[in-house]
Amino acid sequence: MSPDDLKTLVRTVPDFPAPGILFRDVTTLIGHGAGFAACIGHLAERTAAAGAEALAGMEARGFIFGAGAAARAGLGFLPVRKPGKLPVPTIGVDYALEYGQDRLEIDPTAVLAGQRIAIVDDLIATGGTALAAADLLRQAGAVVTHAFFVIDLPDLGGADRLRAAGLTVDALMQFP
Ligand code: IMP
Repeated sequence: MSPDDLKTLVRTVPDFPAPGILFRDVTTLIGHGAGFAACIGHLAERTAAAGAEALAGMEARGFIFGAGAAARAGLGFLPVRKPGKLPVPTIGVDYALEYGQDRLEIDPTAVLAGQRIAIVDDLIATGGTALAAADLLRQAGAVVTHAFFVIDLPDLGGADRLRAAGLTVDALMQFP
């Protein structure tokens, strides 16, 4: 399936999670067998082209696409988790949301020194989540040069922020 066909499988939900926000919901995309397989195929191809040695995905929707793409590419998957979820000592990064703060954590022993790890998430908006994940993986010793998304919201500037931070950004589709 082409990226244009895949775009038609994303459901747009107005006023979620707050009034005035148009939420791009991938539930309908992952529920479509051919559509989900095409997304995983695209992400796995980009992963191989980037020479990544592992994929890291952010909780929770980044797990769905990241784990699928990692398995398809024959690579391991590293979960970047919300706080308090991992049963081992973690390192974490706090980052700003539009309103308030959030935090991501990883098990630092899951990263090998100098390992090339690419980031996968369902969607990039302001880029804060992906930048925090890149920061965390780098703190643990990874080399992070690529970030892959299913959806980019270019009007929110996240991909540009990531590029300014030295990352190569690739998204299957954009919703202006
Ligand atoms: P950012 O940090 O502003 O780039 O927001 C991206 C993070 O928020 C990702 O982990 C997404 O899963 C989530 N997100 C933000 N907006 C949407 C949306 O419209 N649909 C699905 N996820 C979203």
